[in-house]
This record gives sequence, structure tokens and C-alpha cells, in this order.
Amino acid sequence: MSEPFDAVDVITTKRDRGELSDGQIDWVVDAYTRGVVADEQMSALAMAVLLNGMQRREIARWTAAMIASGERMDFSSLSRPTADKHSTGGVGDKITLPLAPLVGACGVAVPQLSGRGLGHTGGTLDKLESIPGWRAALSTAEMMRQLEDVGAVICAAGDGLAPADKKLYALRDVTGTVEAPPLIASSIMSKKIAEGTGALVLDVKVGSGAFMKNVDQARELAETMVALGTDAGVRTVALLTNMQTPLGLTAGNALEVRESVEVLAGGGPEDVVELTLTLAREMLAAAGRDDVDPADALADGRAMDVWRRMIQAQGGDPDVQLPVARETFEVLVPADGVLTQLDAYQVGVAAWRLGAGRARKEDPVQAGAGIEIHAKPGATVRGGDRLLTLHTDEPERFARALEVLDGAFFIAPHGSRPDLLPLVVERVG
Ligand code: URA
Repeated sequence: MSEPFDAVDVITTKRDRGELSDGQIDWVVDAYTRGVVADEQMSALAMAVLLNGMQRREIARWTAAMIASGERMDFSSLSRPTADKHSTGGVGDKITLPLAPLVGACGVAVPQLSGRGLGHTGGTLDKLESIPGWRAALSTAEMMRQLEDVGAVICAAGDGLAPADKKLYALRDVTGTVEAPPLIASSIMSKKIAEGTGALVLDVKVGSGAFMKNVDQARELAETMVALGTDAGVRTVALLTNMQTPLGLTAGNALEVRESVEVLAGGGPEDVVELTLTLAREMLAAAGRDDVDPADALADGRAMDVWRRMIQAQGGDPDVQLPVARETFEVLVPADGVLTQLDAYQVGVAAWRLGAGRARKEDPVQAGAGIEIHAKPGATVRGGDRLLTLHTDEPERFARALEVLDGAFFIAPHGSRPDLLPLVVERVG
């Protein structure tokens, strides 16, 4: 069959800062999914998009083409409204774990299709898979039943959902083109629109541990995604949130599950609790339930109850002892003073090097590996106190983790204050 466009023409149009036509976009996304456009051609196009950008019209068309590459889900037969949350990815970002059951406990169903971690940012499925027996792969029928009976489901997206994105994301990951805002926006929104959620709250991370390093870039990405969602009929809002320093006091799979359970039990670190409640309020409002206060469902144990049922429904035992790494190493505070900096990116890479993350898609992760954080920026610390505890099954990994932690934290004289963004920087939508 002869093809209506030529891949080289599409690449050179974008290379020369031109706008791609609707026909070119529809064709190149479809032809890449079919294997007609080769990986090296799509790599060149992705790099041209990274360097030269796309107009809003092009991003909307690209997103629609990625949705059209696969199936769409439909939750309209459920007896309650649906809302989902998507984070652009960060270090210690375990918020989905307490958030999904919390919103489920407030009467809004949460169909959370999640991914595995790649690079220094963790993945929700890797975290939950540290619970022995827990199963990420569910059929659509199982997912619907769990949403109706339990109110929340966190599972892997099936192969049929935006297959163009699966192929393109893997390619971007190995060609230095992940950071292109048009490609990030279309990747995230194609999956969320195809998933069929009624409302969507985007947590757009800003700072060293995020794809977007400054507020202007993050705002631009948030505005693009909110417009894509709204135009597709999904009630969409975005929060820009701080990823200059890790979220909570843990980074690593089982360590983060443990911390999430602490939050569901009414404890846990202040920033994790605050962000969980803030996002829950946004999700409930977007789903038309701003009459419900999620703080009540957290305090009275209803959210914990949904968590337990959610884990059990997917084969896990909520009371099981979580895996613990065989070896630990303590990093001590070097001097008295105030901790003014603890860099998210460096902590994320260190946790990854300890075995919490993977370098290639097929690599296994260690359930117990990661980092415990004993002080957050703003804390007064004493020389010799514990600052970080590194966990791994393989002690030969400590040296490379310590190497990347060099310069990751700063102790300033007493009376100093950290110069950090607030936890929630801005709301878009
Ligand atoms: N998350 C996604 O799903 N896609 C991206 O491109 C970046 C983050």
C-alpha cells in the first residue's frame, strides 16, 4: 500500500521550524505504530520537536492521534463519578498510594492506571509490587468490579491503551527526548483521556527532581495539559508542586509503602499528608463532591479500610511484613546548624543506584532498597546525628550511591532559612 506522506518530509518540516499539518501528524503517529516509520526516523522527529516545539494545535492533534492508536475505556456505567490524578514524576512521590483509597472512601471512584519507574523517579507499580502477592495486571472486567465494590483501583494500563505512546515513550527514553514539553503533555493526556476518567487532577512537579526544573516551564506544561483535558471533556486542573527536595521521609519501594500506610493510619510526614489532602480536595471538587472533607475519612479510618480492601482484591496481604534490605549505611550530619538543602535529584539517583530503580525496562528492582531521610530542609541538626540511612541488598552499591550524594545537602549556620518553593506553588485551571 502506498503511503500518503513521506517520513523525511515530516522530519524536515519540524527540523526547519515549520508546523506539521493535521494529515502529517495523523499519518506519522499511525505509521510509527504500524512499524512503517522506523525508530531512527521517529527519533529524529522527536529531537526536532524537543528543539523546535509545537503549536497548541499540533499538540492537540498529536494527542488525538495517540488516543486513536488504541482503545478507549468507559466508566459511565459505574454508580459513582470518577476522578484520577497524574503526577509528572518525582522522588519519594508515593502520594497515589494513600490518595486513591482516600478519594475512594469519599464516594468518588479512582481508576488509577500507573506505570513502573524508569531512571531516578519511582513508579507506583514497583512500590505496590513490594507487597508479596499483589498483582498489577487486571482485566477491564476486574477493574470495573473493583471500582464498584471497593471504590479504588491502582493497576497497570493494558497494552491496548494508547499503544503509540508505549512505543514512543520507550524510544524517547533512550534518545534523550523525554523532556520535550509537547511530547510529555501528549503522552500523559492521551493515556488519561483514553482511560475515560470524568475528572483529572495533574500534579506537575517543579525542581531538580522533576522533568520541569523551573516554574515557568512547569506552568506552560500544566496549561497545555489542562487545555487538552478540558477540550476532550475531562474536568482538568493542575497543581504545580515542589520537587526541589524529596517528598516525605523515604524514597524506595517498600519504604514508601510503609510511609503511605503510616499516613493512612493517621500519622506520616507533614508534607505527604498535606499534599494528599490537597489533591484529594481537588479530585472531589472536580468530580462534583466538594461537600465531602477527606480529612474526616483519613482520621476515622475509612481510607485505611479502602486501602486494605484494595490490596486484598489484588492478591496482596495488607498485614504482611514488608521486605527489608539486608544492608544499611548511615550518612551523618557533618556539623551543627540548619539543613537548608537536600536535593531531590541526587537523592533519587542514589536510591536508584541502591537498587530501588531500574536502568532498563526489563531490569528487576529491589523491594527493600532506598533511602530513609531523618531531617528535612529547615530542621536544626547536630553534628553526628543521622541524616540519611541507605538500604540495599548489595553492599557494593553503597559507594556509587555515596558518590552521587556528594554535595546533595547543605548545613548552614544557626538562624539560616532554606530558600525553597512552597509545597503547592500554583494552581492552573
Ligand atoms: N509521564 C508520562 O506518562 N509521559 C511522559 O512523557 C512523561 C511522564
